[in-house]
Amino acid sequence: MPLYAYSCNSCDKEFETLVRSGDTPACPACGSVELTRQLSLIAKPASGGEAEPACAALGGGGCGASCPAFADCG
Ligand SMILES: [Zn+2]
Repeated sequence: MPLYAYSCNSCDKEFETLVRSGDTPACPACGSVELTRQLSLIAKPASGGEAEPACAALGGGGCGASCPAFADCG
């Protein structure tokens, strides 16, 4: 299953979720399904080596609390 990052159009919550084809993810904060998928975030799982913070892939902003660099981000 691919892992996608979304931002919620209703409350601006950003989150990542596994999405099976045909599934519609919902915002974990408000339950809205009005989401914008962030296309740039998730690369394939690293097969060892680099451990870049997720927010680096987002251009230095907008990462979520699960990001190891969240405190330094944005
Ligand atoms: Zn929301």
